[in-house]
Amino acid sequence: MNSSLTILYLEDSVHDAELVCSILENEGLRCAVTRVETEKEFLNALRTRQFDLIISDFSLPSFDGKTALTYAQQFAPEIPFVFVSGTIGEDAAIESLLNGASDYVLKQKLSRLIPAVRRALREADTHREREVAEQRLRESENRYRTIFESTGTAMALVEDNGNISLTNSVFQALGGYSKDEIEGKMRFREFIHPDDLNKAIGLYNQVKGEGIATTREFDFRFIGRDHVPKDVVMNVSRISEAGTLVVSILDITKRLESEQEFRSLVESAHDAIFSLSPSGIITSLNPVFETMTGWAMNAWLGKSFTDLVHKDDLPKTIEDLRLVASGYILAPQEIHIKRKDGSYAVGEFTLTALVRNNVLRGMFGIARDVTERKRLEQELRQASKLESIGTLAGGIAHDFNNILGIILGYISIIENSKDDEHFQHSLASINTAVRRGAGLVKQLLTFARKTESKCMRLHVNDVIKELIPFLQETFPKTILFKLHLDNEVLPVNADMNQMHQVLLNLCVNARDAMPAGGEVTIETANVEKETVQQQFPEAAEDRYIYIGVSDTGIGMDDDTLAHLFEPFFTTKGIGKGTGLGLSVVYGVVKSCNGFIRVTSAPAKGTSFHLYFPAATAEETAESEITAAWKEIPGGSETILLVEDEEALRELVRSLLEDKGYRVITAVDGEEAIAIYASRHRHIHLILSDIGLPKLNGWDVFLKMRQINPAARAILASGYVDNKMKETMAAAGMTDIIQKPYAPNEIFEKVRGVLDRE
Ligand code: ADP
Ligand code: MG
Repeated sequence: MNSSLTILYLEDSVHDAELVCSILENEGLRCAVTRVETEKEFLNALRTRQFDLIISDFSLPSFDGKTALTYAQQFAPEIPFVFVSGTIGEDAAIESLLNGASDYVLKQKLSRLIPAVRRALREADTHREREVAEQRLRESENRYRTIFESTGTAMALVEDNGNISLTNSVFQALGGYSKDEIEGKMRFREFIHPDDLNKAIGLYNQVKGEGIATTREFDFRFIGRDHVPKDVVMNVSRISEAGTLVVSILDITKRLESEQEFRSLVESAHDAIFSLSPSGIITSLNPVFETMTGWAMNAWLGKSFTDLVHKDDLPKTIEDLRLVASGYILAPQEIHIKRKDGSYAVGEFTLTALVRNNVLRGMFGIARDVTERKRLEQELRQASKLESIGTLAGGIAHDFNNILGIILGYISIIENSKDDEHFQHSLASINTAVRRGAGLVKQLLTFARKTESKCMRLHVNDVIKELIPFLQETFPKTILFKLHLDNEVLPVNADMNQMHQVLLNLCVNARDAMPAGGEVTIETANVEKETVQQQFPEAAEDRYIYIGVSDTGIGMDDDTLAHLFEPFFTTKGIGKGTGLGLSVVYGVVKSCNGFIRVTSAPAKGTSFHLYFPAATAEETAESEITAAWKEIPGGSETILLVEDEEALRELVRSLLEDKGYRVITAVDGEEAIAIYASRHRHIHLILSDIGLPKLNGWDVFLKMRQINPAARAILASGYVDNKMKETMAAAGMTDIIQKPYAPNEIFEKVRGVLDRE
């Protein structure tokens, strides 16, 4: 010991005190002694200073050692206290030791002083060290208790027998019991939902078999006092050989709930929602993905997003992903996505970067399936294109008709005047050619939807049955027909001739696609609205009928498929195809509010699928008017002929004059009215074109009616639009003749109107 020993010495005898010090010093214990004699001095010294040792006499004039010991125990119990006294009885000595004195030495036996002091000092040291250790332990325990208490998780110690020995306040709150109700009284299993108990026991055995401090995670439903199960995650680890477990429990009910909410939002969304890793790997998908692409979700989890993208969209998509990843916000992008069946869906993609703590964690994407919208847009474009071409075609057909009419007329004049056989043959050829021309015009007009269509309740099976024998007659024998007609198929409301034309055009195409022969299958069936809506969401009628026309021919490539309904689109050589067949089909289907779809692949044949609304009960049957051919008589009445096309005017005039009629002509409506005003008493019939310059034929007729309410007229036209038709029908005008007309048709009509009462 280097520093000196500080001693508080209670002793009235200076001599004795010095003696004791010298003995200590002799033993090498340097002493710094504070000698006190009174109670006051003793207490004062104890309070104000620090000592290594207290030595005390037993009895003093004004104070006593016993009281001093009491004070020392009270104020500085750590300082060893040794009595050095001449008089101390055995009882007093024992009592003093019991009261905390380290030792006692009789003045007569000072030889014991040194070992007594040394032992006292040693004991004090040990005691102090223990104190420090205990203090540390207390502090550390406190620290752990604070941690145990202040951590946000519920914690408990579970003994080997399953009893809970310690809990923190979070646990108590979670369970709804007080500390006293739980600790030492409740078993941990009481907090576990019965259905999760087996799992818990399994885990418990596992943890028991493992080393100390191995942690296991486990989720189960926690049952507290309120018996409302809470979803929790628990960490368990064994902390002692005895098998004590520490469990910490996190209530994740709220998190699960909000997760659940988000999940159901994502699952029930109408858009595909997905997430990508920073490198573009698909990490999650919702069920819409399946509907959109036909792939199972699992098939694409973990795969690269770009593998789904159409190669034409790829460079742009990769660039977009790069931009999004570097923080740009992009407008929705259209991307073509591979479907399982090999086709492509068009998705409108919105991509967002998922950034946390300035690090790119991945990307979120929402994709809206706009395939259908795109198709409709495309169809609309197609429809408006057809519309304008239709207008054009209508116009051309009108003029063309007049030309054909003229040719036809002159042929019949020549026919009557010459007898040479060769001549007759040429005429017959011209006649056939003109009729083919007229057929073409009819196609054009149907396509332009400018023919007179007469809708009626129609059984498609009847049309088909009527058509097939004719086709079998005219098609090569290598082409076989197969019919799958549903006898129950509902009637449709359509024009007989148009329906005829639709089936004919489809069959002719099938024939052309099978130069080496094959099969044409025609099918009819009733279909529900829902079935049609799956392909055509805009389908609104209650019931539809289906007509399928399939062949086993050469099929079509994508290029042809993209254009086949366009007018004048043909892949057949010049003089072979007109490219009007399918545009007519399309036009008819559309005018009936139906739908058409085609499936085909090169060398795989072609199927056309047509859907027509079934006729409702109100659309009643109308009978067809068939005119029988008969020899038509002429007459001597006067006819006012109004026609702007000079050649045709002259032709019709000479035809009528040949039949004995007197003909007055007018080139336009105004002239016609002027003539009629002055000579109407001599005019029996007016034969007028409807499409006249300045004033149309119908208005001309109305004016004439004002002059003479009994005026009779026949109106001729290449086409009459529906509105005009309605107006005329409402006014009772039914004497309309379709151009081009053969001479007989006009003679018959003229005679018919003149002879009417
Ligand atoms: P056209 O028959 O005068 O060529 P269409 O409008 O009827 O005109 O048909 C247009 C094109 O569509 C045809 O030229 C042909 O390439 C294709 N096509 C139509 N139907 C079929 C079919 N059944 N098989 C293969 N190709 C077809
Ligand atoms: Mg065709």
